[in-house]
Amino acid sequence: MMKLATILSALHQIAPLEYAESWDNVGLLVGSSEKNVSLVMTCLTFTPTTLAEAMERQAQLVVCHHPIPFKPLARITNDTSTGKLLLQAIEAGIAIFSPHTAWDNAKKGINQQLADMLELTSVRPLQNFASGSVIDDSVGVGRYGYVHGQQPHTIEELFERLRKHIPDIQAKSTHTATHGVRKVGIVCGSGGSMLGMVASRGCDAMLTGEATYHQCLEAESRGIAMLLIGHHASESFAMKRLAQYLQADLKEVLVCTSERETSKF
Ligand SMILES: [Zn+2]
Repeated sequence: MMKLATILSALHQIAPLEYAESWDNVGLLVGSSEKNVSLVMTCLTFTPTTLAEAMERQAQLVVCHHPIPFKPLARITNDTSTGKLLLQAIEAGIAIFSPHTAWDNAKKGINQQLADMLELTSVRPLQNFASGSVIDDSVGVGRYGYVHGQQPHTIEELFERLRKHIPDIQAKSTHTATHGVRKVGIVCGSGGSMLGMVASRGCDAMLTGEATYHQCLEAESRGIAMLLIGHHASESFAMKRLAQYLQADLKEVLVCTSERETSKF
C-alpha cells in the first residue's frame, strides 16, 4: 500500500507530463493524491469493460492511456456515457490517471518502442521539443529512422517484425506487400494528420494506427507508403510495458494490465 502521490512521481519519471501536447489532457484526472493504493491496473481506454475489470480486481487506480474526461465537462451525470463512467469510477473509489501523449513522446515511450520493433537505426523524433539551444534526440513527437542495412525492406517484412511483438495487428497498406521502403516515420494511434511532418523528414513510409481515406490518398500522391496496423494494436502493447516499468519502480503496490480489453479497430 502506498500514497497515490508516490505513484504519480514514479509515473512522472517514466513519462514526464511536460512531454504531452498542449491540446492534451494528461495527469491525474479523477481522484485524490492522498489516497492509499494497493493495486494499479493499466489499460488503453476507460470503458465499461475495463471499469468492470478494475472493480472486480479492486484496483484503486486505473492508468488509462486515453484521457477521460478529455474535453471540459459542464456536468457529470448518467445522461452521457462519459458522465456515467466517471460517476461509477468515483463511486467505486477508483482514481484515473492518463499519460497519453506524454507516454507517446517519452524516451522509452510508444513511438520509440515501435521504432525498436521495426529495428530502425538513427532513430530521432519527427519533431523535437523546444528546450533552449540543446536538442534532446531521445524525446519528442513521433519518431523516424532508417531500415537496417543497405537494401530497402519490403512492407511485408516490416509487418512481420511488428507481428513478432504485436500478434493482433490489422495490417493494411496503400502499397503492395513487396514495395520497398528505406526511411519510416512513426506516429502511434491516429497519426494521419502528421503526414506533412513525415514527408518533411524525407520518409518513404509512415506507420500509424489509423488514417482517413483522404490522408491515405495524400500519402500515395506524395510517394509515401501508409502502413496502418489499427489504433488499438498500435498502442495497447505499451500499457503492458508501462505496468512493467511501474512495477519495477514500486514494490509496495501490485501493477497489472487489463486482460479483457480487446479491439479490432
Ligand atoms: Zn490512441
